[in-house]
Amino acid sequence: IFKSEDIAQTQLYYQQMFSSLAHEVKNILTTIRGFIQLLGKDEKNPVKIGYSNFILKELDRAHETLKNSIFYTAPKEQRVNLCKIDDIIFEIISNLNDLIIRYNINLNLQITNDLPSITGDKTQFRQVFLNIIQNAIEAMTNGGTLTIKCYVNNQQIYTIIEDTGSGIPTNIKNKIFQPFFTTKYGGTGLGLSVVKQIVEQYKGQIFVKSHKNKGTSFTIILPI
Ligand code: ADP
Ligand code: MG
Repeated sequence: IFKSEDIAQTQLYYQQMFSSLAHEVKNILTTIRGFIQLLGKDEKNPVKIGYSNFILKELDRAHETLKNSIFYTAPKEQRVNLCKIDDIIFEIISNLNDLIIRYNINLNLQITNDLPSITGDKTQFRQVFLNIIQNAIEAMTNGGTLTIKCYVNNQQIYTIIEDTGSGIPTNIKNKIFQPFFTTKYGGTGLGLSVVKQIVEQYKGQIFVKSHKNKGTSFTIILPI
């Protein structure tokens, strides 16, 4: 059912991972370049000078290749909009409406009127709330209540997403944000790792409270 979202998530994850990897390798190449130049500085042997020039040329080529790779530039083309979290949540809920009905889930929305907008990439914010709401729904396949609260406090927007589902066992609580950690058949384990990356990117915070067989509550705090 979530096939295309899973693919988008996997792509985002690899894009971000490739981006930081490319950055790291570029720094290493710069260091190597500096030392090769130092080694060649007092060299008189024309053959060795030829070798070191060749190494420098190849290092520059590797540097250019990384710089020009589409993956490397992709995450930078981040679109910045004024985003309304309440609109994003209503949009997600209406997209997931079929599932909500099929699983017999009650909706309890407590969303403050006139929430201020926050600046950022709307698709990223959407991804954050979609991943958490999706997990909440997947934890209540036998019905339950999905509560979403959204309010402002101290120049920050608080969003609380609560379910009355299976809960997260204590022994896996510290693993749920790790990439590829999943307890679901056919799960990607990427949802919460992407959530964490995005929330941290916007200098926000995320907290989890959960009790086995009682339910789970995620709190996301984003600065305005
Ligand atoms: P996936 O949904 O593909 O398994 P996620 O990163 O979204 O990957 O979640 C990782 C794991 O965290 C899930 O497999 C599940 O065990 C646990 N989890 C996350 N949210 C909830 C929730 N609301 N209720 C129970 N378990 C959850
Ligand atoms: Mg998930």
